[in-house]
Amino acid sequence: MLRIAIQAKGRLNEDCMALLKDAGINVAASKRKLVARASDFPIEVLYLRDDDIPQAVAMGVADVGIVGLNEVAEKNQNVRKLMRLGFGGCRISLAIPRDAHYDGPAWFSGKRIATSYPHILERYFSELGIKAHIHEIAGSVEIAPAVGMADGIFDIVSSGGTLVQNGLREVEQVFHSEAALIAHPNLEAEKLSAIEKLKFRFRSIVESRGMKYVLMNLPHNRIDEAVALMPGMRSPTILPLAAEGWCSLHVVIREDELWEKVEQLKQLGAEGILVLALENMIR
Ligand code: ATP
Ligand code: MG
Repeated sequence: MLRIAIQAKGRLNEDCMALLKDAGINVAASKRKLVARASDFPIEVLYLRDDDIPQAVAMGVADVGIVGLNEVAEKNQNVRKLMRLGFGGCRISLAIPRDAHYDGPAWFSGKRIATSYPHILERYFSELGIKAHIHEIAGSVEIAPAVGMADGIFDIVSSGGTLVQNGLREVEQVFHSEAALIAHPNLEAEKLSAIEKLKFRFRSIVESRGMKYVLMNLPHNRIDEAVALMPGMRSPTILPLAAEGWCSLHVVIREDELWEKVEQLKQLGAEGILVLALENMIR
């Protein structure tokens, strides 16, 4: 039986639960319980605070875990990073008061910086040979400069709105994070094979996200041009239509390219274009 640690509540919880569910692993989402057993996969889910997940995995309390790479880097525990999961994206950045004159990272020499990520920041400064006073605080890092506790901060940024609200400006993006699957470094063969299954399912889900399945009717003599529009595709599916000179073309298109490609296909004479959600892409 494999044990996976995920965040009990917070920003990663919902995406973790959705990923498990899409992978065919159904667990009761009872937040009160610490451990829940899945009904259809030999796995137990351990609900923890995200800060505790790297250690729980390093100790073997859980065999695998899903946690932000920021926590993995900060906690510096002995765990294996297996795969990125494509959600929970954010960066950890240095920010200073909006009006301060900034001339590069040397600005931070001798300054006081408030952060919840002292180790990542220490490593960054030591690589650059900068000596600063790092103050670890647990929360509300962004208000530290305004109340005189710090000259600058090192904190998580996703949109930057919180920084602006607190009169701060981002000056260095130091660490880019997203949620990842991590594992205990030494596991027995049986667990490793369960983890391979899990990774296979997760990979199919992560890869199919942001993809659309597109079908269209296309004049037969434009197939080559349509195929040339989609260089990533190994071989498109082409089915004959009852109408002479027409075929049905099926392709998978990345969501961010969808409209551009659809417009180009229309110019080639594509008609009746259907865009369908792609649930899973199993390679
Ligand atoms: P816990 O109670 O589990 O300790 P937390 O308050 O430390 O939760 P959350 O705010 O739920 O943490 O964030 C969890 C993780 O989500 C972060 O460590 C980071 O990897 C990721 N994340 C993504 N975007 C953001 C963001 N805008 N702010 C904070 N974390 C973010
Ligand atoms: Mg936390």
